[in-house]
Amino acid sequence: MIEILSLFYLGDSMEEKILVTQSSMPPYEEYIEEIKELWDSKWLTNCGNLHNKLQSNLQQHLNVSNVELFTNGHLALMVALKSLGLKGEVITTPFTFASTTNAIVDCGLTPVFCDINEFDYTIDADKIEALVTDQTCAIVPVHVYGAVCDVEKIERIAKKHNLKVIYDSAHAFGVSYKGKNVSTFGDISMFSFHATKVFNTIEGGCLSFNDETLKQKIMQYRNFGLNGEQVEVCGINAKMNEFQSAMGLCNLRHNQEEIAKRKLISDCYDNLLAGVKGIKFLTLPDSIVRNYAYYPILIDQSVYGLNRDEVAGLLEKHNIFARKYFYPLTNEFDVYRDKFNGKTPIASKVSKNILCLPMFADLSIDNVKHIVDVLIAKK
Ligand SMILES: *Cc1c(COP(=O)(O)O)cnc(C)c1O
Repeated sequence: MIEILSLFYLGDSMEEKILVTQSSMPPYEEYIEEIKELWDSKWLTNCGNLHNKLQSNLQQHLNVSNVELFTNGHLALMVALKSLGLKGEVITTPFTFASTTNAIVDCGLTPVFCDINEFDYTIDADKIEALVTDQTCAIVPVHVYGAVCDVEKIERIAKKHNLKVIYDSAHAFGVSYKGKNVSTFGDISMFSFHATKVFNTIEGGCLSFNDETLKQKIMQYRNFGLNGEQVEVCGINAKMNEFQSAMGLCNLRHNQEEIAKRKLISDCYDNLLAGVKGIKFLTLPDSIVRNYAYYPILIDQSVYGLNRDEVAGLLEKHNIFARKYFYPLTNEFDVYRDKFNGKTPIASKVSKNILCLPMFADLSIDNVKHIVDVLIAKK
């Protein structure tokens, strides 16, 4: 009985629960229509018809010559690192999801942590060169929250020191900079199509790259290292299946519309929060076409009065679930603490003061107003 009651009991305020995110889904009938042919073909994975259709649609959508699909973004990132044959140190950011650092370490590479900038929280390109040693083989920057890294400076540094660049673009689907899709920067970019991302295939991801000669290696590493009957490299299994691909084909049709809805929500937050002292939201230059993947706010306790954890608690009291994202930093995880080089004081400060407010295409404007009202009332 208590359990049944708790299903309906939504806390003291009896307000509707607002979660930080909600997955985008196509109309039910559209998905059913898409998967129908699988009952005829009985071909469920290993580069089926739907997989190939999605691959080709994404190549067009991301405006890049090569796209390879994966069962998730994390394994895609691992395959990217493996296929480039990297060894040694990788300069990267700790202000990211566990996946980025885990992938580097799991591939036998040594992360060297570079600090971030205070404006858009991406890697501070001015601090990269000081971390380059004769062991450095690559840079793995992250387009955090769909902001774009300083791709020009990073490219110059990479050229000068002969380093590979692999972008973690998990947050940046649909983002472009100076008219170029982020899929085209660096040697390889990884996108995540996880259920919580701007574009989802339930779980899923892809690698995009310009150099056609990488294709063979990437496909091999994705499928156990097989080349015909032979195994030539120690590969993994990271293929995208047909049901994921079907979800992708459907969601891609609605993606522009979803991003447009996110923009309205983001603009509304911006307008309402503009007058709130001590809360800073993300503003990006006009050279970037955004995807509004997240709505991070940076809280300055000395001005706003409450610290980040208190703000998260206040929102929770009203059944609003924000996310401390990214906190802790990856170099503060138990498994990595004090193990790798690189001082990151700005990342550390941002990580303690950042909070991602609810953001998804179907979040109502009334709820956005309600969230900001709570932030203004501070009670
Ligand atoms: C989501 C995410 C990943 C991992 O992607 P999955 O598809 O969930 O495996 C990697 N890096 C960042 C920054 C992410 O947000």
